[in-house]
Amino acid sequence: MERWSKRALYGWGRFPVIEARCARPERQGEILEALQPDGVEGGRLAYGLGRSYGDTALLSDGGVILMERLDRMLGFDPETGWARVEAGVSIQSLVDVFLPRGFFPYVVPGTFQVTVGGAIANDIHGKNHHVDGTFADHVRRVELLTGSGEVVICDAQHHPELFWATVGGLGLTGVILSAEVRLRAVASPYIEMESIRVESLDHFFEVSADSAGFTHTVSWIDCVTQGKAMGRGIFMRGGHAAAGATLKRGPLGDLGERLSPYLKMPIDAPNWLMNKATMRLFNEAYFHKHPKGKIEAVTAYAPFFCPLDFVQDWNRGYGPRGFLQYQLVVPSEPEHRTIRQILEAITASGMGSFLAVIKEFGEQTHPGLSFPQPGVTLALDFPNYGAPLFELFERLDEMVLNAGGRLYLGKDSRLSREMFCAMYPDWARWKATRDAWDPQGRFASDQGRRLGLVEGER
Ligand SMILES: Cc1cc2nc3c(=O)[nH]c(=O)nc-3n(C[C@H](O)[C@H](O)[C@H](O)COP(=O)(O)OP(=O)(O)OC[C@H]3O[C@@H](n4cnc5c(N)ncnc54)[C@H](O)[C@@H]3O)c2cc1C
Repeated sequence: MERWSKRALYGWGRFPVIEARCARPERQGEILEALQPDGVEGGRLAYGLGRSYGDTALLSDGGVILMERLDRMLGFDPETGWARVEAGVSIQSLVDVFLPRGFFPYVVPGTFQVTVGGAIANDIHGKNHHVDGTFADHVRRVELLTGSGEVVICDAQHHPELFWATVGGLGLTGVILSAEVRLRAVASPYIEMESIRVESLDHFFEVSADSAGFTHTVSWIDCVTQGKAMGRGIFMRGGHAAAGATLKRGPLGDLGERLSPYLKMPIDAPNWLMNKATMRLFNEAYFHKHPKGKIEAVTAYAPFFCPLDFVQDWNRGYGPRGFLQYQLVVPSEPEHRTIRQILEAITASGMGSFLAVIKEFGEQTHPGLSFPQPGVTLALDFPNYGAPLFELFERLDEMVLNAGGRLYLGKDSRLSREMFCAMYPDWARWKATRDAWDPQGRFASDQGRRLGLVEGER
């Protein structure tokens, strides 16, 4: 077992940054050793690839267990598509290993750089939530190292309450050692897609309503433009192509078939680079690059699912102060009043950044702390402007709560305990399960303390 080492640790938004004590085990047995207070007092928390944005994967006063070396493929049944993998296996590796055999993960987020453990602990969603639900809908079993040091198998028959507390459980029920994950049989590595320029928020909802026949839908919207054109953007919809499909260049065609990044952000950009003028320019250029109307294309899977992965370390573009993502979901309403109100508040503040993502979720929900619920989800990045941004977020929190919505905890670093409890009314039941399995409070995180999910103040 490696010694604990101190290092700066942060999520994808690079805010907050903490000094953490980290261990990087190579075998499952070493994780059990890492639970012992061998020189590092306090709680423990698993860390995947750090693609949650805020303090979900951070623990300042304890030991952080880096899972990236626990990345072995343990078994695969090509008849059914079920794979058994260690929790540090990334979605990128699932694609690399199984796509040549004709299989693809059911749920892919906006980056391939997330681990299976992280995908379960945040119950991630993809562009196909309205058809396929979340990542956990394709997980039938997890092997969990609990606070007592016992390895517990959880599935529909064995401790289902612990299984569902671990899904979206933010790493606070224990360390997921391995999981059984179902992969989808695909006939081609390509995606047959359409992109449509949407001219306003109303237009977005029209196209979305008209897209039920597509397994994957998402829209990138301009979060700078106000007035009638507010909510304009590029709507993308598609699905895995049929056998024999060939590439047909479209809006994403230039990125080709390569999965490796083309570009790398070698250093932190200066803080001033992200300002209102550059954001306006970028939003204008992105929108006008797409001709009016619809383009049909057949594209490689990588640019369709994760275009941002083509720029390695793009988060450094926000400079040393970092950035925050605000992702919300609100139930559908007549006139889409809350979404409109929120976009108005953001565009008026002038703090919104390059692009926002908007999508309608399907009906699938899970108990506990899982984020997706039926309605409209909106995700926006904001440079870390400090106090004015936090004030804007507090106003947005009120709007989201009043509409019966909630924020995605995997993107959060500042939500208040009171707001959280109101947004996630199932939290007390979740906590009762967690406390029963970890009565000594061995697992903890900075976010968990802030939100009252584990003992201690932050
Ligand atoms: C560019 C980008 C796009 C994204 N797009 C989406 C999207 O479309 N949909 C979506 O849902 N999310 C999206 N995300 C968020 C990302 O999918 C989640 O935050 C995911 O959980 C990150 O996984 P990770 O392996 O990096 O975990 P980390 O960020 O390291 O950890 C996340 C949580 O998982 C816990 N955890 C990690 N490993 C284990 C383990 N083995 N056992 C127990 N707990 C564990 C951690 O304690 C922490 O609570 C995006 C993130 C980025 C950077």
